[in-house]
Amino acid sequence: MEIHLGIDDTDSRQGMCTTYLASTIVNEVIGDFQRPELVRLNPNIPWKTRGNGALAIRGTTPNYSEFKEEVIDTVNGLREPSSNTGIVFFKKDPRKHREIRLHSQKAIKNTIDPEDAVKLARKHGEIVGFGNKRGVVGALAAAGHTFNDMTLELLAYRERARWGTPRKIDKTMVYKASELHPLIWDTVDWKHKKIVIKPNSPCPVLYGIRGDHEKAIKKAHNTINSEPISHTTIFKTNQGTDEHITPQKIGEAKPMSSSKVVGEVVEPPKTIEGGHVIFKIKDSTGEIDCAAYEPTKKFRNKVRKLIKGDTVVVYGGITKSPPTINIEKFKLKQKKPKTKYVNPTCPSCGRNMKSAGKNQGYRCKKCKTTKPKKIKLELEREIEEGFYEVPPIARRHLAKPLIRMEMGYDQK
Ligand SMILES: [Zn+2]
Repeated sequence: MEIHLGIDDTDSRQGMCTTYLASTIVNEVIGDFQRPELVRLNPNIPWKTRGNGALAIRGTTPNYSEFKEEVIDTVNGLREPSSNTGIVFFKKDPRKHREIRLHSQKAIKNTIDPEDAVKLARKHGEIVGFGNKRGVVGALAAAGHTFNDMTLELLAYRERARWGTPRKIDKTMVYKASELHPLIWDTVDWKHKKIVIKPNSPCPVLYGIRGDHEKAIKKAHNTINSEPISHTTIFKTNQGTDEHITPQKIGEAKPMSSSKVVGEVVEPPKTIEGGHVIFKIKDSTGEIDCAAYEPTKKFRNKVRKLIKGDTVVVYGGITKSPPTINIEKFKLKQKKPKTKYVNPTCPSCGRNMKSAGKNQGYRCKKCKTTKPKKIKLELEREIEEGFYEVPPIARRHLAKPLIRMEMGYDQK
């Protein structure tokens, strides 16, 4: 019989990773399952789990109650005791219900009341929750999620005895594997000389390879030398798709959501304490601050090149007080010419002319030549019109890398 399963919130700062739990279910529980789905949810909410990813598993099982029992046993054996795990079970495809699809969209773009999630899940399926059951929100969102755009991630898991110990990966071979770019992406950060595939948490993941091309992902995986791997699983995901982003007016942009807004720079970039770079934009509905925070490193140098009057399209999550867009990428849509007024030069001797007194124009002392006013000079801008993005080391899971736009994955 058909089954659909959603699961979320099994990890803590101490360890575990819900993807590992999903891969264990797919590999060990009785049934025939499709590729598991990793759905990243709203990255802006303060109570999110690490990475804020929920999982869905779909397939068939010969015996629903045995399946359910085995899943609960597996989750019980692996979840972090302090987590607020939620599991939702459906015997029919939950994606058929509009209200569940809307719940998924809302969990990615906005915030959800856990009580509403529990009610909705119970209406169409069954839930098993631990702790405060907050995990039901994500579990239902994953189970009800439909993909407009999708990418893949191969996760390689560590042997259990090594969990929590330093990861051993041959960096040179990761750089070698990264040459498969753009079929895979965010493998290394060339500008900052860092490999990006390795998590920093004490979870069971050794590394993850992201991309749009299954063969290239597997090839990259086969290129990398590392400590022994327990197993690998490829997930279908909404990472790198911008699914969290809502195009809107500045006046509509609300904290704890993510926007794409078009505006004119009204206050030029300034660097504040901590190395963060902030500028202000406006449209007909309001003004908002935009920030390139310190961890975005060299990206800030691009942001610093903006000037008052530039028209930009800014993508990012919104934090509050005062509302600020945490920039994930921006497009310099129309650059304002940068001008400077200088004293005219003498047509006879070429020297700089001096002011001849207030409202008296300019004069060359030597040749006695005169000019009525200063000259407008157009200066070269140090930035071209086009897109700029944060580096892979600072990229949010959901943010679409520019390479995916360039490769035409924009409209899938
Ligand atoms: Zn002169």
